[in-house]
Amino acid sequence: MLTYILQAKAELHNVARVQPVDDESYPHDYKFKFQCNGCKTIHPNPVQINRFESFQVTGFRRLANVLIRCKSCQRERYAIISKIGKACIQDEATFGAGVVDEYCDILKIHTHGMRILEFVADDQFECVTTAGNLIQGIGLLDGEWEEIDEEGNELKVLNVDWNLKLVSEKDPKYK
Ligand SMILES: [Zn+2]
Repeated sequence: MLTYILQAKAELHNVARVQPVDDESYPHDYKFKFQCNGCKTIHPNPVQINRFESFQVTGFRRLANVLIRCKSCQRERYAIISKIGKACIQDEATFGAGVVDEYCDILKIHTHGMRILEFVADDQFECVTTAGNLIQGIGLLDGEWEEIDEEGNELKVLNVDWNLKLVSEKDPKYK
């Protein structure tokens, strides 16, 4: 079992926080490139996981958010995800006016039999502006987003940097 924390940092302008759109009415599809930990095959297509679907792991009572059969070695791999921390990119020190230079925890990914290589940010994100407005439908696949709000303020999310941190399951912070 390997546990990862998906983290992110970014440069925010007039934006207080950025997060995945992720609730029961719009489950976020988190996509990850991955490698089978048994046969070491790197799978070309990312695996897609959301928090609201669960499947029973074959032969166990445990539930996972995704089950994958490795096409090369035929073994079953699975992953369980949950939100962690504030689950958003936010910096209270600068509050919407600068670089968030520490990684913020977004999602915990508990994997069995697979290594997560890369996060593919191609689902929808949302932000809360420093004026308190919620804006949805933000795409961050290119690592940046810009818009001008009704009051003429430039809203920007720039240089989005994703990180996958491998953590110990014994670390109480990530239990
Ligand atoms: Zn395999």
